[in-house]
Amino acid sequence: MNFILLGPPGAGKGTQAKNVIKNFNMLHFSTGDMLREGKKLDKTINKFLLSGRLVPDEMVINIIKKRFERDDIKKGFLLDGFPRNLRQAEQLDLILESKNIKIDKVFFMDIGFDEAINRITGRRVCECGASYHITMLPPKKIGICDYCEADLIQRDDDKENVIRDRFTVYEKEIEPLIKYYKKIKLLVLIDGLKDEKDVFKQISSYILQ
Ligand code: AMP
Repeated sequence: MNFILLGPPGAGKGTQAKNVIKNFNMLHFSTGDMLREGKKLDKTINKFLLSGRLVPDEMVINIIKKRFERDDIKKGFLLDGFPRNLRQAEQLDLILESKNIKIDKVFFMDIGFDEAINRITGRRVCECGASYHITMLPPKKIGICDYCEADLIQRDDDKENVIRDRFTVYEKEIEPLIKYYKKIKLLVLIDGLKDEKDVFKQISSYILQ
């Protein structure tokens, strides 16, 4: 089965994506993670990431296109952070059509602006992929990863001035995307304000249908 996870920065998409792939054995494609990985090779990507602006559509669509060339795609996947706008959604449809793949559901995890700012500014991450929150999900030792004992860092684009720009971009692009998936009856609303377990329960109930 194949799914898309939509929602504002800080909605918990990454956390829920990890829960889903662990429990349902599917692939996780996060364009944010792919771009952060790629920024070491391509300095122009970093400029976009640091400013909170979207990376040009062509660049992200190419990354996704390439990934979909691999055979393991048949295992099923969860797309996280892509598509981000209508143009990307339309391009995704073309890629999927050419591979004869269908999306089963599009989950939209909504949380309000204030909650998102609080969650993001408190987020700390580790290079191993673990993610924490300074008050809501603190590590055992302040600033140290529970799993690999490396120092935790704050993503540059999680800093307050950048996050406001990321939100402005998000709000402009999300409305048409929601309408698009509603129209083709794929959209499922998920209450992202509930706790992690509850949000996962909501998502799983649709995966198990
Ligand atoms: P995320 O980890 O999904 O919050 O993404 C972090 C940053 O990566 C975003 O602020 C954008 O600069 C970039 N990004 C991630 N996904 C996309 C996408 N689908 N299109 C354009 N830029 C993206």
